[in-house]
Amino acid sequence: MTFIRDPCGIVCLLVTYGAVFYADYVVTRWIILQTMETSLWAPLHVVSFNTVVFLLTMAHLKAVLSDPGTVPLPQNRLDFSDLHSGQKNGHGHGEWTVCTRCETYRPPRAHHCRICKRCIRRMDHHCPWINNCVGERNQKYFLQFLVYVGVLALYSVALVLGSWIYPCEQCNANIADSQARMLHSVILLLESALFGLFVLAIMVDQMHAILYDETAVEAVQQKGAYRPHRRKLALLADVFGRSHPALWLLPCTGLNSRRYDTPLLSHDV
Ligand SMILES: [Zn+2]
Ligand SMILES: [Zn+2]
Repeated sequence: MTFIRDPCGIVCLLVTYGAVFYADYVVTRWIILQTMETSLWAPLHVVSFNTVVFLLTMAHLKAVLSDPGTVPLPQNRLDFSDLHSGQKNGHGHGEWTVCTRCETYRPPRAHHCRICKRCIRRMDHHCPWINNCVGERNQKYFLQFLVYVGVLALYSVALVLGSWIYPCEQCNANIADSQARMLHSVILLLESALFGLFVLAIMVDQMHAILYDETAVEAVQQKGAYRPHRRKLALLADVFGRSHPALWLLPCTGLNSRRYDTPLLSHDV
């Protein structure tokens, strides 16, 4: 389990949970209880909306607390003096590189994150919204989080618009309550539009990165073209694990960890 002490990341975490809590409060207190109190739809929407909130929270917590694929530090200090004499590093690992900040060798596609202060395997970017890097081992949870934020935003918009199109005639609400509901509904609409469009943009970016096998870091460095061509489904399975695609959006299933547990390198030389 990891937790990065980055003030910007911690503020983003608080904003995220504040926004989700507020959406849940408005939908339950001001929309469902105020406009559907006589309908059987009320319990159905309360259960399904809170199920999405639960899945979102679970995916988010997993993305925040998971190890994104940190490259372990060597037990003994390494000597990099051969780097300066123009020789290869001698490990025969092709694209293995040296991180002078971690003072270690790192596998292909690993990059150093200045905020985490460590090298991360297949690092995409450091995301303040999960206060963690998006890397080989937590990209699945990050994508799940994006999907559930998108679903929650759409669901909120649908409930607000539904309450405007089909106002409840039998529900007894006074003027003050109606005005408060209208105010909360407008704020929720704006919040949903903002976060919904934001996650849609990141999602398009992430899917492009996965399907074209090029992380955001590599796109900047223009390294993607060196890798062999692979099927799109295989590239998606790299991120979501070897389980059936129908289970890819469930934040309770783990990744098939066996392929990540191959020893990186024996540094005890
Ligand atoms: Zn490093
Ligand atoms: Zn990072």
